[in-house]
Amino acid sequence: MLEDNAFEKFKEQILRDGPRLGADGRFHFLCHRNLTCFNHCCHDVNIFLTPYDVLRMKRALGIPSGEFLDRYCIIPFSKTMRYPVVLLRMREDAQLACPFLEEPAGCSIYENRPWSCRTYPLGRAAPPRTSGGEDPAFYFLIREDFCCGLGESREWRVAEWLDDQGVPEYEAQGRFFQDLAQDERLGAGKSLTPEQMDMLFMVLYDLDKFRRFVFETRFLRKFQVAEDRIEAIRTDDVELMKFGFEWIRFALWQEPTLEVRKEVAAVIKAAMEARPGAQAAGPGLSSPFDKKPAGKQDESG
Ligand code: SF4
Ligand code: SF4
Repeated sequence: MLEDNAFEKFKEQILRDGPRLGADGRFHFLCHRNLTCFNHCCHDVNIFLTPYDVLRMKRALGIPSGEFLDRYCIIPFSKTMRYPVVLLRMREDAQLACPFLEEPAGCSIYENRPWSCRTYPLGRAAPPRTSGGEDPAFYFLIREDFCCGLGESREWRVAEWLDDQGVPEYEAQGRFFQDLAQDERLGAGKSLTPEQMDMLFMVLYDLDKFRRFVFETRFLRKFQVAEDRIEAIRTDDVELMKFGFEWIRFALWQEPTLEVRKEVAAVIKAAMEARPGAQAAGPGLSSPFDKKPAGKQDESG
């Protein structure tokens, strides 16, 4: 189990001491089933899942996002978190194997394995950045003693390795989440409220629940969304995920990513004028639309 703040401490250490690898950085590595360590790295490991990881994995398994989160994930919580995170839950046996490991064959969801499984033995560190600033993220080599692949003679350039592992697609779809997670405004000054964290959790990771939220509440009566967009988010998970990020940015920082319907804007304006200083019941993340996500584990003690 991940200790409270262990991830933040690890991140701080990497940002401080980790040797950084650019796109042309080189390293030696080859992973194959003849190595004595084959499958070793798929045990007792902390794998953070991105929203796109969850989307790909639940789709590959043919189950709703809520069921995926309940069956395969740990949702740690502490008061210092800037945004919700999700970890893959290892099996509860002596070996603590990944639930998707099939011995001796290997990963049973290989085509849809998470981002961090793809980049290994490279890790990605992403310091906070200012809005519009250059992305300061970088890759670094993870040196695990048990990994014999690092002693193989095959040399890779970082960009070549990432390409070989299908990472560019994950980076393209993951950039919305990276932008959000690295945004220095998130958690600056004051933490998100529990209600905001719950809403963020739903939009980021529980896409099928978010779809019900969009289509089964007054959401679309509040926002002006083009008909073809509505049809896209009804059926396409990737489009729904992108739409969710637009709503988050609108709700958290009032960015003009979504358009409030004129009649709703007029009601909000009238309410604000009638009660100066009061917070209008706008379509923000703090709206009491939902309950705490199922399966959440409070590790804050
Ligand atoms: S430990 Fe390294 S070489 Fe061995 S299976 Fe895992 S990634 Fe491959
Ligand atoms: S998802 Fe696949 S590659 Fe990643 S830890 Fe699990 S079995 Fe290994």
